[in-house]
Amino acid sequence: MTPEHFSEQISEHHSDRTADRTVDAVVIGLGPGGEDLAARLAGGGWRVLGVEAHLVGGECPYYGCIPSKMMLHESRRGHPDWHRVATRIRAEATDHWDDTVAVERLTDAGVTFLRGHAEIQGGTAGTADQAGAAGKAGMAVGASVTVTPEGGSPQLWTARRAVVLNTGSAPVLAPVPGLPERAAWTHRDVVTAETLPDSLAIVGGGPVACELAQALAGFGVRVTLLVRGDRLLSGEVPEAGDLVAERFRSEGIDVRTHTEITEVSEADATRYESSHGLPTPSGPVDVALSTGDRIHVDRVLLATGRAPRDEVRVDEWCRVLDAAGDPVPGRYALGDMTGAGPFTHTSVAQSAVVAGQLLGANHGVGARPYPRNAVPRVTYTNPEVAAVGLSEDAARADAASAGGQDRGAGGEGRGSDGVRVARVDLASSSRGWIDEVAGHLTLVARGGGPDGGLVLVGATVVGPGAGEILGALTVAVHARVPVAELARIPWAYPTLHRAIGDALGKLSQGA
Ligand SMILES: Cc1cc2nc3c(=O)[nH]c(=O)nc-3n(C[C@H](O)[C@H](O)[C@H](O)COP(=O)(O)OP(=O)(O)OC[C@H]3O[C@@H](n4cnc5c(N)ncnc54)[C@H](O)[C@@H]3O)c2cc1C
Repeated sequence: MTPEHFSEQISEHHSDRTADRTVDAVVIGLGPGGEDLAARLAGGGWRVLGVEAHLVGGECPYYGCIPSKMMLHESRRGHPDWHRVATRIRAEATDHWDDTVAVERLTDAGVTFLRGHAEIQGGTAGTADQAGAAGKAGMAVGASVTVTPEGGSPQLWTARRAVVLNTGSAPVLAPVPGLPERAAWTHRDVVTAETLPDSLAIVGGGPVACELAQALAGFGVRVTLLVRGDRLLSGEVPEAGDLVAERFRSEGIDVRTHTEITEVSEADATRYESSHGLPTPSGPVDVALSTGDRIHVDRVLLATGRAPRDEVRVDEWCRVLDAAGDPVPGRYALGDMTGAGPFTHTSVAQSAVVAGQLLGANHGVGARPYPRNAVPRVTYTNPEVAAVGLSEDAARADAASAGGQDRGAGGEGRGSDGVRVARVDLASSSRGWIDEVAGHLTLVARGGGPDGGLVLVGATVVGPGAGEILGALTVAVHARVPVAELARIPWAYPTLHRAIGDALGKLSQGA
């Protein structure tokens, strides 16, 4: 072999290796949206690398939505059995926290998969400044990504067309003085627990705290809910949190508002007996509260919110913005990190928005962004709390910033800014009365609809099946269906959702 041949072979081999690590897109983090998008792009003929540090599918299937709803379901059965649900979580939901099936689904779809940590070269994945710097440093589209596979050394990959970030969020764990590590739980400890503590203090009053409080209380755990503010579910209409708290108290959950932990210390374990299987020596802690009270619990669950693992700013097309607010070419982000609503459905909806831009509508995806103000959210407590769109306050602020230009038909109603609010008790519907339901439905509307009249901009339902009732209201808010049109619908009798018709009637009466 001549030296020329030899060097040709080397350079061919080298370029092959380089080509191996050149793809059309790298998806960093495979939560619900990232997994969905990687498969969509591969289905559209793109060469795609998907990198996941932990489990393909992210928080939702392994530690979040699915296990928590399985717990709630079991806790509401006749004889709740923790062993049964712990087994279901292992066998049916998470494959013992093994994502082989999800990885196979991804690779079968044509995605190259690496388990490991990925970073856009030049900095931590995803800060707007770094993304901007990389974008402006000559990489018109896409970028270089360093991937450190589990147990391997770093590899450099090139994404020719796009880098998509879906690195999700992690719990915000405010330090609690004196809390021993063994007694500090996050939702992951609950989901993976084979036995339950006798007693638990939960710090937080948001959806995760409330769902876990009610689920665990259903299995006989003595739950104390410590809420810094004045009510549960502070992101929802006040009546929602109040009704949930009332129900919790009736179920024996000790709900304490305006309360924080000041200090935790080891308690004398011999004074407390365990009936749920935890060995006594790892037993209770003494929790001093800001109210001056003290409680003894086995564990302290910190459910004080979540924060993005990487900071990005995105526009409605999920394009990452640089410090000047300009989209970085070829850079996208999905999911919790975007601040567009920390939900599985937002992450997956954002995947469709990005896929639509990258693949085009002929791949069966809609390239248009969905209205940010019409994202539904549900807390699966009993009573369930479901909401979509704007609260009354947000609608008023919105109207004020719009200068009241479209006061329209709403001008004479409650509020001179054109915002109308109607609220009905579910018990006032025939079905609510028959079923002796506690709960309510609130509609927020304002003028300036497609027909010039009122249009719904928000809705909240509290009560049984609230998340299901919300479906119709989500369509109305999303599609800006005129209130006059909604009011013509003969809602089925006797359903709970007939309350929508009653509330629409109230809205129209004020018009
Ligand atoms: C207890 C609980 C209950 C919930 N219930 C619901 C519910 O009922 N309904 C609902 O819609 N939502 C629910 N959520 C929220 C839901 O789980 C998230 O919104 C959802 O998982 C979407 O998150 P994501 O797409 O941002 O990605 P995530 O699910 O957060 O996944 C991101 C992934 O990125 C990986 N990663 C991070 N950094 C890197 C890196 N540099 N390189 C490689 N990989 C990386 C992580 O390992 C992770 O797997 C719940 C959450 C919790 C905690």
